[in-house]
This record gives sequence, C-alpha cells and structure tokens, in this order.
Amino acid sequence: MQMQGTEVSPGVGMGSIFLYAPRTVCLETVERCAADSAQQLEAYLDARQRAAAQLSALRDSLQGREAQAKIFEAHLELLEDEEMEGEIRDRIEDGTHAAWAVQEVFSFYSDLLAQTEDELIRQRAADLQDVKDRLLRILLQVEQPDLSHFSEPVILAARELSPSDTASLDTAHVAGIATEQGGTTSHMAVLARSLGIPAVLGIHGLTETVHHGEPAVLDAGASLLLTGALEELRPDYERRRAAFEVKARQTALFAQRPGSTADGVAVAIGANLGSDRAEDLTAALNAEFVGLFRSEFLYMQSDHLPTEEEQLAAYRRVLTAFVPRPVTVRTLDIGGDKELPYLPMDREENPFLGLRALRLCLARPDLFRTQLRALLRASCYGSLNIMFPMVSGLEEFRRARAMLEEVREELLREGCAVGDVGVGVMIETPSLALLADHVAAEADFASLGTNDLCQYLTAADRGNPAVTQYYQSFHPALFRLVGQVARSFTRAGKPLSVCGELASDPAAAPVLVGLGLRKLSMSSACAPAVKEALADKTLAQMEALADAVCNASTAGQAQALAQG
Ligand code: PEP
Ligand code: MG
Repeated sequence: MQMQGTEVSPGVGMGSIFLYAPRTVCLETVERCAADSAQQLEAYLDARQRAAAQLSALRDSLQGREAQAKIFEAHLELLEDEEMEGEIRDRIEDGTHAAWAVQEVFSFYSDLLAQTEDELIRQRAADLQDVKDRLLRILLQVEQPDLSHFSEPVILAARELSPSDTASLDTAHVAGIATEQGGTTSHMAVLARSLGIPAVLGIHGLTETVHHGEPAVLDAGASLLLTGALEELRPDYERRRAAFEVKARQTALFAQRPGSTADGVAVAIGANLGSDRAEDLTAALNAEFVGLFRSEFLYMQSDHLPTEEEQLAAYRRVLTAFVPRPVTVRTLDIGGDKELPYLPMDREENPFLGLRALRLCLARPDLFRTQLRALLRASCYGSLNIMFPMVSGLEEFRRARAMLEEVREELLREGCAVGDVGVGVMIETPSLALLADHVAAEADFASLGTNDLCQYLTAADRGNPAVTQYYQSFHPALFRLVGQVARSFTRAGKPLSVCGELASDPAAAPVLVGLGLRKLSMSSACAPAVKEALADKTLAQMEALADAVCNASTAGQAQALAQG
C-alpha cells in the first residue's frame, strides 16, 4: 500500500505503524443539567488542579527541550485564565454539569480563534481544544494512549496530533510521523523539523487504511507512506536512509561557517525571526544579521494592541541578543491574510490588495506612532534598522519616514535617548521594484520580499490552494525583476537583501547571488543547506546560471536549470 501526502520534514523513517486514535470525549451520555451544583463545582476544581499537576509534570520532564516545555507552559496559562474560569463557574452555579460548562466555554473561544485565516492564531485554537480535552478526560475518567514510551522504532499514524501529544513524544523511537491533518507551521511540523524526524501530513484516509503493528516506510522526500510487503524494498530504503543521514551531517557542518561562494566571495547569511522567544534567538545566533524581524507576532500573541512599553521590551530583547549585529525590524504587517481579533477592520473583497501593512499604519497613525516610539526608544540597545512593508510607491515611504522623524523629535523633546537608525523598505510590489533606482537613492537599504513580490507579479494569491500552480517562485519574470533591483542597488552602493522564502531555497540562492545579491536572510534551520549550496559554485558559475534562468521561457525550465 502506498499513500501520498505532503512532506513537512525530510528523511526516511522505518518502523512498525503505531496507530494513534485518541479517544474523543463524548458528552452525549452526560446530562447537561446537574442537580448538585456544589458537587459539580468541586469536581471542576479538582479536575483543574489535576490538569495543572499533569501539565507542570510534563513541562518539568522536558528540561533542555525548551520549545516543547513552552507548549505546556502556555497550556497552564490557558487553564488558569481567570475570564474563562469565571464563565465556567457561572455556568456551573446556574445548574450546568461541569463537563458541559468546560465544553461550552472552551469551545466558544477556540471556535472564535479557529475562524481566522492566520495559522498562528489557529494554533492557539488547537491549544485551547487540547486543554479542554485534558479537563474533560479527567472529569469523565477517559484513558489516553501513551506516546511517551516505545520500545522499538515506530511510524506514528494519526488523524492529527495535538500540541500535547507532540510535546510528550518519545522522540528516540518515533522514526516517522504521518497524519491526515495539520499545517506546515503546526507544532508537530515544527517539532519534526527541529528534531529531524521525517514527517508527511495530509494523507487522506490514513487512519482507516493502515493497521496497527504492520511494517512501514515513511519516505518523506517523496511524500509517501508505504506499508505491507516491504521486504524487497527494505535494503534500498536502508541505503537511502543511511545516505540521507550522511548528507544531513555534512550539511550541519555548514551551520557555523560564514556564507561564501566556492571562490571565496562572501555572502552574508541573516536570520528571519518571528518571535522573541529565547530558543528562536539562540537558534539564530550564527546569523550575521537579522534581516527580517516580523513584529506582528507581538500583536497576534496579545489580546490588545501592545503598549509602547510591551513593544520596547521585546525590541530591546532582540537588539541586545544580537548586538553589535544589525537587526531589521519590519513595522506591523497586518491585513491580507492576517487579522487581529481586537482590531476590527472593514471586510474587503481583496484583502491582499487592500488596507494591509504600511497602508493600514498610515491610516491609523495612533497605532503606528506607538510602534515607532517603541522602536526608536529601543534603538539605543543595539544596531537597529526599521523597514516598512507593502509599499507601492515612494510617497508612502516618504510619509512613513516623515512620521518617524516627527516621533524622533517628540522623543528628543521628552528627553529620551534615541540612537542612529537605518530606514528602509521592503520591495514586495512590482511597482516599487520597477522604481528601484529611485528607492535606492532615497532609502538607506531595502529587502526583497519575494513571497509577496511573486504573488503580485504572477497575480496568484499565495494562500489560495486553487492557484498554487500559478504561484511560481521560479518564474523567470521574478528573477529578471530581482536582477534589475539588484543592479540599481549595486550602482547606488546601497545594501540590498532578500528575506523572502526564495533566499532559503538551496537551488534559488546561487541564482540570487549570480544576480548580484550578497545578503540573504532566512529562517535559521535553512541556513546550513543554503551555505552548502553556495560553497559548491564559483561566482562566475552563479552568474552564468542566473543568466540562463532569466532567459528561460517558463518557471519549469528555470527551476530545472537551477536544480541542476
Ligand atoms: C515576503 O513577502 O517575502 C516576506 C518576507 O514577508 P511575508 O512573508 O511576511 O509577507
Ligand atoms: Mg511580505
């Protein structure tokens, strides 16, 4: 049997299937009304206490695995949320069974979060579900299979893994993970990648098809799960697994080396950051600069507009961690596919073409000024660059820069210290890319946001699965445009980097260098493979490759050339 899904973590895993079917907690047999509310309240408080004890024990057992421990820390916070607890108590006091009260209150909030298009916020909905299930299992005494101890290698097959399942996995024995659901940024995918466990998501009908205990091979590179009579295939997969591991070890050697072509031309490799969590900062410490700090996480994690002081603390933390290396903070990029539950916005027919990012900030100067004040106050703690996203013409850049200057004057009048700050722009709209000579004359630096640039250039919504085939990141038109921007910046002697996903693709990175780029910024996990790819070719080879890619007639041809 051969089943196809989507790879989220590469490699080859072999073992027997562990079919994980967590028992769903069903309230159908529980009466919603309860006669004795005092007893129900006691049951709820007891369950809450036991859930807290379980979560603390799980957190403490994960010392040295910060990211996973954080999941349980977050669950403890949700469990102890006073507003939800108050609502649950009110319902119980009105005669509702404790299990129903928990079910209704947690579901209300998780449904609210699950409706947003933003994957990070949806992830919070999964956390709420997870805490709810834990409480219900305790209240209704439902046992759960244990994923924390296996005695032999297993391929874990599940409909979906909750954040708790993921964090408590016996990672020494889980040789692969296959699920029906889950996203590329789910806890499961992130954990699998960080631990090097091969993982494939989105396998339709998986849990109805595989059998517990049968032998299986997870070939993540081919996005395949194979089960059944595998004896003939086994030696081949053993060889591929060994080769993959050797290759992964070789690639890992590049983590601490500086980026360079085979003939010694330096290419600075930077980090993209989407949080100020200690483990993310630590993972990025080999980076020569932070090319993109996505400040919107501060807004998305919060239930209110983050105050100046809250923002200052986060920017200061990141700047201090990287000093003296420069950190480029992108101002708020909300709108498009990202919404804030506490910031109502008018519905738009085409949100990606709407009041997004800098456009929203210019329309809401109150909100923008708070961020600019926090950034300028933080500038004394390191080397700060401020970058404006989603700019389609120079007027917007000038308005934003003028506001920044006003805020600087205001702070100086108040007696606040303000450091020197580079002011730049993301080039992610075709209109701005085509004006790169003017941008290079006015801005201190720029960074190419190829994720959006590709979407606006190909007129294909980056989040719409129906048009994925048209969203072609190897489109020769995109490389031509990038080359044109690079030439303008080289002529002007101004720094230009790429912080879109293209920079982190080992096939595309040499093309970008061939086009003139000398700074690439990416998520830290991708840096070793990119450095390895750069070390494999001379600059002249990359320039010839870039020429060929720009002269290709289709994205398919360009990609084939780049992949060699
Ligand atoms: C981009 O558009 O390339 C980019 C880096 O920004 P984001 O993916 O956050 O829109
Ligand atoms: Mg963008």
